[in-house]
Parts: sequence; structure tokens; C-alpha cells
Amino acid sequence: MQIQLNEQQLMLQKTVREFCEREVLPVASDYDLKGEFPADIIRRIGDLGVPGLLFPSEYGGSDGDMLSFLVALEELARADASVAITVEVNATLCGELIHRFGTEEQKSRWLTPLAKGTMIASFALTEPEAGSDSAAITTTAVRDNDEWVINGSKSFITNSGTEMTGFVIVAAVTSRDEAGKAKISNIIVPKDTPGYSVGPSYNKMGWRASPTHPLYFQDCRVPATNIIGTEGKGLSQFLWSLDIARVAIAALGVGLIQACLDRALSYAQQRRAFGKTLSQFQAIQFSLADMETAAHMGRLATYHAGNLIQQGLPFSREAAIAKLFTSEAALKAADQALQIHGGMGFMDDGPVARYYRDAKILTIAEGTSEVQRMIIARELGCV
Ligand SMILES: Cc1cc2nc3c(=O)[nH]c(=O)nc-3n(C[C@H](O)[C@H](O)[C@H](O)COP(=O)(O)OP(=O)(O)OC[C@H]3O[C@@H](n4cnc5c(N)ncnc54)[C@H](O)[C@@H]3O)c2cc1C
Repeated sequence: MQIQLNEQQLMLQKTVREFCEREVLPVASDYDLKGEFPADIIRRIGDLGVPGLLFPSEYGGSDGDMLSFLVALEELARADASVAITVEVNATLCGELIHRFGTEEQKSRWLTPLAKGTMIASFALTEPEAGSDSAAITTTAVRDNDEWVINGSKSFITNSGTEMTGFVIVAAVTSRDEAGKAKISNIIVPKDTPGYSVGPSYNKMGWRASPTHPLYFQDCRVPATNIIGTEGKGLSQFLWSLDIARVAIAALGVGLIQACLDRALSYAQQRRAFGKTLSQFQAIQFSLADMETAAHMGRLATYHAGNLIQQGLPFSREAAIAKLFTSEAALKAADQALQIHGGMGFMDDGPVARYYRDAKILTIAEGTSEVQRMIIARELGCV
């Protein structure tokens, strides 16, 4: 297993870190408080080649690897979790789905702009009545000659409704088996397709600069060729891409833990109380040591899962473990960092309050902590 980053990965880490310190961190709180999508920053991350790290250059990618992508995501999340989730959803839930299961035409038309970072896309699975139980979705797509006609609605969809959003991949029921069980397919719906509309932005607690909207489909017609892969195979397709996305979310968790540690350590070394710096008190030292331990363990779990993906080995269990551990550890680290900052930590225009608000969603999106525990327990043989 590769734990040490190679020269190329170290160079990428340095480039993304410096970019974030210069371009992302100084404006992150502002975008967060305004709830505004930082399109200019996302475009500039495209220039760094980060959105295309998982994809070959023939589709606009930068011929990187999974570990490089995870390292870059960690750096982005360390500066701004909203920016990191934008890139993450684009590459994993959307890009990987098309790259692995799409046609050549779909790859050149839809994957290429995603990989170049000139366009973003959404993956729409969750519905008002179906979240963790994703097989219970009721959005339908009915074949009518050369078209799919989509009806239904989707909730909480990331990367939707922005000037950069080019399309959404919609998970829809396209048929049922003899027992009435839904057969799901993933279908590409370009922006501005008649019958597809984007609802008002949610007012979120965290990831506030990441755009999230409900989506509606009413007799929305797209070409039959917009289906990804074989009809009825959508569930297994997105379960696979969701596993990859969970490893990527784990990298976001590591980035957030590291950000909490960086801030808390620096504050503890200069803030004085009772004639000493906070960092001289053992209670504070223990808190910082816990954060360092969490960052280290989270990074190992994330890299391990990333290594398995890179080698084409089974990784579902390791993805769930990495996501579960890092998201819950990020929540704890954010609480510790805020506590070390005292009253200052509670001020919403400071980064620590943002970390605290951004940490919680990691235990919910792309499979809740309970869902991760269900996956791990199933791998243990509990059925
Ligand atoms: C900011 C944000 C961005 C999102 N982006 C996207 C996106 O881009 N695309 C998309 O499709 N979805 C997206 N989602 C939706 C997200 O994936 C779901 O919210 C998540 O999967 C949980 O589903 P739910 O909210 O319906 O909760 P529910 O499934 O209703 O669960 C509620 C609670 O019950 C628990 N629970 C459910 N079943 C069990 C069980 N069997 N055993 C024990 N506990 C259980 C859950 O863990 C949870 O704690 C986003 C959500 C948010 C908040």
C-alpha cells in the first residue's frame, strides 16, 4: 500500500495548497456568509487540472490517479469545504459514472468539459420520500420512441442551478421486474431541457457556498441515447460511484480535521490565560493531540481505500470505514477547535465556526453514518 506520496503527488499537494492559501482561504468566509457559489474559483481550479485527475487526457483529463485526487481534495477542503464538495461531486458521482459506463459520445460531450473544469454537473438520486433507501425512488422515465420522458422530483441536489452547471444525471425508474421491483437507470438531462426546472436554493447550515436545489421533471424529454449504460443497471452503477465518492468525502473529512488542528494550534500558541499560553495547559495539549491522531488515522484509512480503487480491488468496506471515521472525527475536531477558540470560535465570520457548520454534513451526505455502519456490518456477515 502506498502511504508516502511520490514526487508528482507532493508537487500537486504543494501547488493546490499554495493556490488555496492565496485564492480560496481569504474569500471563503465571505462566500460562505453570503451563500454564494464561487464560480471564478472553481474555474481556476480547473486550470490546475484537479477536476480531471481521475480521467485520461483524451477526455480532457490530466492523467492523474486516485491518490493524487484525494490529496488535492484534502487541500481544497482544508481551505473551503464548499469548494471541495463541488469538485468532488463533479468528478466522482458524475464524471466517474460517465467514464466507466458511458458511451464514447457521452464521454466526449459530457465528461470532457467536467474533466477540464469548464462545466459542473449534478447527480440527482435523493427524493422527498427516498434518501438512504435509494431503491425506493419514484421518479420515472418512460420510453417513447427515441426519447425518455421523465417525471418526478429530486431533493438536495448539489452543483445544480449555477451558471457553470451543464447537466444533471437523473436516477429514474425505467421498468419493473415480475415482482414489481424497480429497475433504475441513470439518464443525462442537459440544462434548459423543457420540463426540467430548478427550485429555489436551500438555506443551509453548512456547505453554504455549494449550490443545492430541488429539481423538478415534468414530461421532460431527452434523447434515448442519454441513458448511461444498460437500461435497468442504474442502481449498481451508482452504488459503485457512491463508493468512490465516499472515499473522496473521507478526504474532505481529513482536510477539515487538518484545518481545525492548524487553527487551534496556532491560536493556542498565542492566546494567553493565567499567565501562560493555552498550549501550555495539558487539557488543551490533549485536545490538539487527539486532532493530530484523527488526521493521521483518517488519512491512512482514506489512502488505503484510495489504493484499493487504484489497484482495481474491492473497496466498498474500506470506503465505508474511511467515510464513517473521518466524518465523525471531523465533527469532533471542529467541536474541539471551537472550544479552544472560546467565544471567538462562536463568531460566524471566523473560519472555525464555518468548520463546525461544514463538518456536520459529512455524516449525512453520500450515505449517512448509519448507512456506513450498515455496509460495514453487512461485510461482517450480519444480514
Ligand atoms: C447539503 C446536501 C447535499 C446533498 N447533495 C445531494 C446530491 O447531490 N444528490 C443526491 O442525490 N442527494 C444529495 N443529498 C441527499 C443526501 O444524500 C441524503 O440527505 C442522505 O442520503 C440521507 O437521506 P435523507 O435525508 O432522506 O434521510 P433518511 O434516509 O430519511 O434518514 C433519516 C435518518 O434515519 C437514519 N436511517 C435511515 N434508514 C436507517 C436504517 N435502516 N437504520 C438506521 N438508521 C436509518 C438515517 O441514517 C438518518 O439519520 C444532499 C443532502 C444535503 C443535506
